[in-house]
Amino acid sequence: MNTNHTTVSPLEELFLDELADMYDAETNLVRTLPKMARSATHADLQAAFESHLRETQGHVEKLKKVFETFGRTAKPKKCEAMAGLIQEADKIAADHKATVALDAALISAAQKLEHYEMASYGSLREWAGLLGNATAADLLQEILEEEKTADQTLTQLGRAHCNNEALGRNGALKNASDEEADENAPRNVSDARAARRI
Ligand code: FE
Ligand code: FE
Ligand code: ZN
Repeated sequence: MNTNHTTVSPLEELFLDELADMYDAETNLVRTLPKMARSATHADLQAAFESHLRETQGHVEKLKKVFETFGRTAKPKKCEAMAGLIQEADKIAADHKATVALDAALISAAQKLEHYEMASYGSLREWAGLLGNATAADLLQEILEEEKTADQTLTQLGRAHCNNEALGRNGALKNASDEEADENAPRNVSDARAARRI
């Protein structure tokens, strides 16, 4: 590494290494978020995943710009952690597929991904600042803010709909055909109770 950059500091080496890790992680997420959107049953959760997919595509572009501000071309380095988190997301979604807890499971898995990103961008932004690259620090801060907002949106969706629905008091199992057949089915426990009273 750095055959053409003999004066690079250890911190810059570390920064570029972690940047390459996140470039791989974000690319992986661009492939994964559409699947999570398709798995979600609540329309607001689907929309949240689709909206964060567009932001994530933006993160890939912003990371390319950050590489450029360091005179580098974007290069991925396999992020084992994100691959593992995505594997867990697939597993928990598969394990709770066709149950009222599926959306809650997807939210939990997605928040783990977001927190990994938030931790990573926090360090990257700090290091870009220390390396005297304000443009890179600003770009990384922009990404960090979007990750935090995505995380908050997921918390709110869990509270407003998906966690209540996962309580499952109106029946444990449902399947995909029920879901399609009854678009206006009660989305949470209080709606379900209200519906039974009618
Ligand atoms: Fe991201
Ligand atoms: Fe990583
Ligand atoms: Zn994210």
